[in-house]
Amino acid sequence: MDNKRDYYEVLGVEKNATPEQLKKAYRKLALKYHPDKNPGDKAAEEKFKEAAEAYDVLSDPDKRAKYDQWGPSMGPTGFGGGGGGFHAGGMSMEDIFAHFGDIFGGGSYGGFGGFGSAAGGAPRRRRQPKGSDLRIKVKLTLSELATGVTKKLKIPRFVQCQHCNGTGAKDGTAFQTCQRCHGSGVIEHVQQTFLGPMQSTSTCPDCQGEGKTITQKCQYCNGEGIVRQEEVVEFTIPAGVSDGMTLQLKGKGNAARHGGVNGDLLVVIEEIPDPELIRDGNDVVYNLMLDIPTATLGGSVEVPTITGKARVKIPAGTQPGKVLRLRGKGLPSPEGYGSGDELINIMVYIPEELNDTERKAIESLQGQPNVQATDSIKKRIFSRLRHIFNPES
Ligand SMILES: [Zn+2]
Ligand SMILES: [Zn+2]
Repeated sequence: MDNKRDYYEVLGVEKNATPEQLKKAYRKLALKYHPDKNPGDKAAEEKFKEAAEAYDVLSDPDKRAKYDQWGPSMGPTGFGGGGGGFHAGGMSMEDIFAHFGDIFGGGSYGGFGGFGSAAGGAPRRRRQPKGSDLRIKVKLTLSELATGVTKKLKIPRFVQCQHCNGTGAKDGTAFQTCQRCHGSGVIEHVQQTFLGPMQSTSTCPDCQGEGKTITQKCQYCNGEGIVRQEEVVEFTIPAGVSDGMTLQLKGKGNAARHGGVNGDLLVVIEEIPDPELIRDGNDVVYNLMLDIPTATLGGSVEVPTITGKARVKIPAGTQPGKVLRLRGKGLPSPEGYGSGDELINIMVYIPEELNDTERKAIESLQGQPNVQATDSIKKRIFSRLRHIFNPES
């Protein structure tokens, strides 16, 4: 333990290095000595673990303070009293990789040579590889959104190669057990360190963790175990979904290379705007233009709804700006209870051109007692419209 290198030296930073500098230094070393980049290279692996250990201690203010106080010559029991300090039982490769999320961040983590991916990066014990997810957009009308719909779509996806059963080996049998890992897919190491025994495992570089190697490739999939194929996928979209929602269809994505579980199909909902109905949450709004006689005398008018048409009774003396409500004619709530309404926003059309007969009829109204709104009528109508122009009232 006395021959342990100084942690600051390991990371190549000054004693007063900031957390940012530590992180940067560690990131550089981790990338350089990563097992994926140096398959089978023991020296690189040691350096990789050494850096991880150093960073683990120095990135923790508490551990770093103790380390600074006691120095590298102190054994593990010197810290926090009997193993409770730095590490309970050595630092495994899993531990090291578990920290990578915050070192590399989401994007670059996955992007680095595929480590952490099913294709064979981070050490794992024969974890089932998963195929990649597929994402498609489905455009739906308001009526489809309201009632739910079953869609059948042709989707190009990777499926298991039938000739080799997804194994990639000729006839599905041209395999041999990996001679390096004897079928386990991982290589284990135990090593005495300053912090006690440190166990680590890494993916077998010969078989990429699969435990077996192909002796002769399947010619139909070139050893991949998957082939691209157009497939008809049928799925039901429940009522009440809305624009931008994503539905996840388990196992309908791409098949995994060399067997494993399929990825998922992600269905992104896109709403086709309706030419007449405007969606407002679970409600829909329809602007209804009445003519003067109907608004004045009352009548019955047909309006479009999400699922078809409805007749609406217009009371005599209906004012522009009035809103009629068709209860339950909106969209069902995605939570599954109740439905929104259709709101009919009344407008009244004032003619822009008149023939002689029409002009005479309108002129004859001029000055008639009921054509003018009295002060009390104005007050009643304006008070109802007030909120439109003054939201605070
Ligand atoms: Zn095949
Ligand atoms: Zn192997």
